[in-house]
Amino acid sequence: MRIILLGPPGAGKGTHAGTISQLKNVPHVASGDLFRKHQQDQTELGVLAASFMSKGELVPDEVTISMVEQRLGEPDCGQGIILDGFPRTTEQAKALDIMLKEKDLRINHVIQLEVNEEEIVERLSGRFSCTDCGMGYHEKFSAPANKGICDKCKSTNFTRRSDDSPKTLRNRLSAYKEQTALILPYYSTKGCLKSIDGMAEMDIVFDEIKKMIDGD
Ligand code: ADP
Ligand code: ADP
Ligand code: ZN
Repeated sequence: MRIILLGPPGAGKGTHAGTISQLKNVPHVASGDLFRKHQQDQTELGVLAASFMSKGELVPDEVTISMVEQRLGEPDCGQGIILDGFPRTTEQAKALDIMLKEKDLRINHVIQLEVNEEEIVERLSGRFSCTDCGMGYHEKFSAPANKGICDKCKSTNFTRRSDDSPKTLRNRLSAYKEQTALILPYYSTKGCLKSIDGMAEMDIVFDEIKKMIDGD
């Protein structure tokens, strides 16, 4: 099973990619998480990516594509993948097709989560995650069952993303509209694009996704 979750920042890509990954036992590959790991490890790529991410701009295609290609070449990606945040440009979408075609593989579903800007701002201003296991939360919509304790790993350390600030978010939304939304016609022409109302409650969105991928 190979799935792409598409949508603006805050659409719920990471939330649902994580859950599908557990349900179907296939890796969740998030380009943003890969960049943040490089930043943490202070690699050359991490330093380069940070200069774009801190402004809410897209990291150049060439480095993004080669980073994802390397991840997809790892053994755990052999049976399937849930892609979150990649591809974000037509160039990346084409490169992904080539990478898969070389292995005689293809994307089964491209699922677009549709959310309006007001909701995005509310979601991202309340977003935080567990520092130790990466589990995502929201202050209002999905807080940990026990305040201050991660449901998944019991850690008490939480982090907020610096690029969720209002100013950076404006640029991220522009990047989505001007670059990422252009790949929707690319996938609709291929006949694998499906859209879901991402404004619905999390469980409902998840059920919709499950229905789409059932049997895979
Ligand atoms: P993305 O990966 O698309 O940027 P996330 O999955 O991180 O989005 O979701 C952004 C924030 O919104 C998180 O705090 C998450 O808990 C919350 N969230 C996700 N889906 C929903 C939903 N359907 N309703 C309300 N909040 C949601
Ligand atoms: P969100 O979950 O809010 O959509 P991500 O974690 O996916 O955000 O991405 C955070 C930042 O990382 C982006 O604003 C961008 O700078 C960079 N980034 C992530 N994925 C890509 C990509 N496929 N191409 C270019 N830049 C990317
Ligand atoms: Zn945790």
